[in-house]
Amino acid sequence: MTPQTISYIILAFLAFDYVFEQVMDFLNLKSSKKTLPAELSDIYNADEYQKSQDYHAERSRFGFITSALSFIIYFGVIATGFLGFWDHYLTQWIAHDTLRAIVFFASLYIASDILTLPFQYYSTFVIEEKYGFNKSSVKLFFMDKLKSYLLSAIIGGGILWILLSLIAAIGSNFWIWFWVVISVIMFLLNMFYTSVFVPLFNKLSPLEEGELKNAIVSYCEKVKFPLTQVFIIDGSKRSTKSNAYFSGIGKKKKIVLFDTLVEKHSTEELVAVLAHEVGHYKKKHIVSGFVLSILQTGLILFILSLFINTPSLSEALGSPTLSVHLNLVAFGMLFSPISEVIGIFMNLLSRKNEYEADQYAAETYDGKALIKALKNLASHNLSNLTPHPLFAFINYSHPPMLKRIQHIKSLANA
Ligand SMILES: [Zn+2]
Repeated sequence: MTPQTISYIILAFLAFDYVFEQVMDFLNLKSSKKTLPAELSDIYNADEYQKSQDYHAERSRFGFITSALSFIIYFGVIATGFLGFWDHYLTQWIAHDTLRAIVFFASLYIASDILTLPFQYYSTFVIEEKYGFNKSSVKLFFMDKLKSYLLSAIIGGGILWILLSLIAAIGSNFWIWFWVVISVIMFLLNMFYTSVFVPLFNKLSPLEEGELKNAIVSYCEKVKFPLTQVFIIDGSKRSTKSNAYFSGIGKKKKIVLFDTLVEKHSTEELVAVLAHEVGHYKKKHIVSGFVLSILQTGLILFILSLFINTPSLSEALGSPTLSVHLNLVAFGMLFSPISEVIGIFMNLLSRKNEYEADQYAAETYDGKALIKALKNLASHNLSNLTPHPLFAFINYSHPPMLKRIQHIKSLANA
């Protein structure tokens, strides 16, 4: 295939992806209902429901503008061969290939972050603020940015360095070695997520002794869940939206509850949410999810290895010669339809797992409390209760609220 043809294919993928996403967002916006389904009618009163619809309409309009702008920029950058030009320009200053690649990606990362900065700012300090979600300050916003820059530089830069060094040293067999390395890195990131990375952004404090702690401990004993610690995270410093998760591959399990969650839910609801998380562990969703992402990474790396030294990929992006890191970019773009499809299957699997975790919580604890918790969560987060079915099918990692509630109700003890 000529570089010109490859470049047209990339542009066609970009355009298709853009149009498809806009149609989906439009369908989703249009599917909002004037009145809620009967089962969900107690979540919002009329005013709150109006507020949730206004919120989603405003988020959608904002999304239409930002995706149009980023589409224009991406399309322009590819169509003009800017990436090839920029990379070639850098060769005058940096002879070392790997170092040049790191500067190349870092410059693109910074440029795109600066371009999108006004939108990130508007999203947090205008839209989220208007609906009462935002708790962040301008100072915190920029401190977060600084920290994520540093983290991306260390982790992203390190991974890129290893990848490019392996490609330079052993050619297209790099994928096997890199697969081993990246799997170990993924494992370590997962293992140290709560103890190393979360504390960079948030404060974790152990849950105090009391009614909630007792209820959690006695539930975990009952289902033989190897709980080591329960933390409260100060999510409230950024947003009033709430969540819960637990982490730890292997024997040591930590549960992390958002302070905003603890504040707004009863003890029964919190234990029900926790029971759902325990369900993910008991049904082996965490281990299987991890194994699946390792396998998926291996497959992608293998396919990448077939194209890594093909000059026409770099040339399609405007470079006069082969450049391995430009090939990475072109590969990423050519692979995007396949990753979309993989994403749909992963969401299908994830939704199946959510139903199983709900079922586990209903069987070992209390389905009614879980339903109450879900409704409470939806109302505080102004969740969209009537997404378009096709939109939900493609994009949702969790089943829509109504389906989850119907499923829990259909179980015997709920
Ligand atoms: Zn879940």
